[in-house]
Amino acid sequence: MRPLAVRVRGLTKEYGAHRALDGIDLSVPEGAVYGFLGPNGAGKTTTLRILSGLSRPSRGEAQVLGVSVAGGDDAGERLPAAALREVGYLPDVPGFYPWMTAREFLRFSGRLFGIARQELDSRVDALLDLSGLSGVRGRIGGFSRGMRQRLGIAQALVNAPRLLMLDEPTSALDPMGRRDVLDMIGSLRGHTTVLFSTHILTDVERVCDTVGILDSGRVVAEGPLSSLTMPRGVHRFVLEVSDGADRIESALRERSWLAGISRQGNSLSLTADDGTAPQREVPAIVSELGLPLVRFETLETSLEEVFLGLVEGGGGGR
Ligand code: ATP
Repeated sequence: MRPLAVRVRGLTKEYGAHRALDGIDLSVPEGAVYGFLGPNGAGKTTTLRILSGLSRPSRGEAQVLGVSVAGGDDAGERLPAAALREVGYLPDVPGFYPWMTAREFLRFSGRLFGIARQELDSRVDALLDLSGLSGVRGRIGGFSRGMRQRLGIAQALVNAPRLLMLDEPTSALDPMGRRDVLDMIGSLRGHTTVLFSTHILTDVERVCDTVGILDSGRVVAEGPLSSLTMPRGVHRFVLEVSDGADRIESALRERSWLAGISRQGNSLSLTADDGTAPQREVPAIVSELGLPLVRFETLETSLEEVFLGLVEGGGGGR
């Protein structure tokens, strides 16, 4: 098993009588691009604030890069300084100095970490490149939301963190701004572990390899994206021919792996208890019958289907 960058067990946060987190467990493997998905008010910000040392839980344990930030014997008031240096965090509403340029802002942030001048110069150049802001000379006050968000991610990377946590980095952006931010996050794969929260399913499908779904303060699913979208044991296929679908149906009904079949016009929907036998045998059946094949596809359960099935009320959008 891969070592964990974040390990959370039984984490609970109460605001008075309101329980924002209800005993959550999370495992973020090192090297993952982890999508922390949940509708508004699910508790994503609360979790990230605890993990970054900005808030304390009511109960439970949390470890960040092996350092206890809650619940353990060595858990302090805040994330210990040694761990803090290895973590980058971008809050949901980042603050900037509008009179600075992007370069000035990154240099300023780097100096707060005590990064030596030469090292900082090359790091700032690399981060301006990564964020697509190298050629931008103007002040931050004139930046678009997308530019600010990319600058915010660059700032969170200035200390070359082993773990980068981003709170809803795409939520206020237009489609192009989102694409740029997601591309930037994707380019970090293999360099740093990324944990980012979002309520946007397609963000997760586009860039994440691991997902945790939070609903009303509880984790309702967690694991590799592929394990959530392809439940074990059920395989779905769709087959379309321009003629003779009834003959194919008869032939398929004799196969032991067939779990279900329905026909609509020239289109057949199949479920099977084997993922590869249909891929091997269906094209052969079509060919033996001499029928013209229009399409044959393996269907995955979409993350949206999984999400709507798990999240109460089914309302994942903002
Ligand atoms: P969003 O996408 O809307 O930011 P979220 O998943 O980040 O949602 P949180 O901001 O963590 O959710 O909020 C979880 C719950 O805790 C919500 O019901 C919220 O109203 C409540 N909450 C958060 N902060 C506080 C606070 N300081 N005092 C009281 N309740 C709070």
